[in-house]
Amino acid sequence: MKKQTRNIALSVSALAVVAGGAVGVGASQSDAAPGKVNTASSPLTVRSGPGTHYSSVGKLAKGTKVDIKCQTRGPAVKGTYGTSTWWNKIDNGRWVSDAYIYTGSDGRVAPLCDKPKPPSNGMPDAPRTNPHPGQMTRAPKLTARAKFVRAEMQKAFPGIRCDASAYRPGQVSDHNSGNALDCFPGKFGVYASGADLREGNTAAAWLKKYAGKLDVQYVIWQNKIWNIDRASEGWRYQGKSGATYGHYDHLHISVKAPQQH
Ligand SMILES: [Zn+2]
Repeated sequence: MKKQTRNIALSVSALAVVAGGAVGVGASQSDAAPGKVNTASSPLTVRSGPGTHYSSVGKLAKGTKVDIKCQTRGPAVKGTYGTSTWWNKIDNGRWVSDAYIYTGSDGRVAPLCDKPKPPSNGMPDAPRTNPHPGQMTRAPKLTARAKFVRAEMQKAFPGIRCDASAYRPGQVSDHNSGNALDCFPGKFGVYASGADLREGNTAAAWLKKYAGKLDVQYVIWQNKIWNIDRASEGWRYQGKSGATYGHYDHLHISVKAPQQH
């Protein structure tokens, strides 16, 4: 992570509540980069995957040297070196947030962990049928129904990260009732392109195809909305601008809820 030490709260706060994150499958040993744990004093938690929602598999004391095999994007963590969405794979099934690792560099220092290969036919298998009834909760909590969709998304598209998103005061939003997900094939605020765009397109088609099984109400992607209640109209252009507002960087998924907004 960055050279400059900033005076920032050291608590590991997951800004993005939920994440899929790519599961790394090891880059060659020679490309690994050295790093050093730099926490305030308490040891750094090692996770089984690239995100704070993965289970803890150990601790590393301040000053411990690590070998960064590869790096991938995951939920943001605020640490010694500011906020980072990079997660470092230091061994099989062992990941640490880059926010607490000194590498002497501002950017990525090790190879990208490979994204899991998509199925050969391009479209993942059918999801399970959503067993959960519609309910309401308050963001950033997700309803069981929305959590189920997130789990099925993560299984089908491990390279896409789905967040619950924050409560939006004064707004009518399925996010506020825990019935929506924002899913990022690439980076927040950046128009998806290349492999990320293709993966997003596949996910949008998969969600549309299996909306009935998943209890998905509507999907927004690339400035177009598809709603199961208006399925015959297909994808309808929304005419919004900007990477995020136009949903060019993420898929919005609303699940069916007792009250639709
Ligand atoms: Zn959204």
